[in-house]
Amino acid sequence: MTNLPNCPKCNSEYTYEDGSLLVCPECAHEWSATAVEVEETNVIKDANGNVLNDGDAVTVIKDLKVKGSSSSIKIGTKVKSIRLVPDAADGHDIECKIDGFGAMKLKSSVVKKA
Ligand SMILES: [Zn+2]
Repeated sequence: MTNLPNCPKCNSEYTYEDGSLLVCPECAHEWSATAVEVEETNVIKDANGNVLNDGDAVTVIKDLKVKGSSSSIKIGTKVKSIRLVPDAADGHDIECKIDGFGAMKLKSSVVKKA
């Protein structure tokens, strides 16, 4: 017996390896044997490469225009208690509240850990 994981779809134990994929012969489901490592790529880093966590405080490193507002978020603005959005489709992977602006979404590339 090998110690391959059971099929995540039908829980079959007859899974086998096909290159970098695992294949289930019972339901034909294929998945990546390295799926566990995908979690690692969900790490969100600031402009300096420091890993950010929920609840961190960050500083904005460049002036940011705000949609629908005549004012902009100034460089050096401190942002408390960020919330990370790892799968943000538009690249705005930080949710936060900024004094004077309210709830905002930022890109991790425009902040650094405070
Ligand atoms: Zn299966």
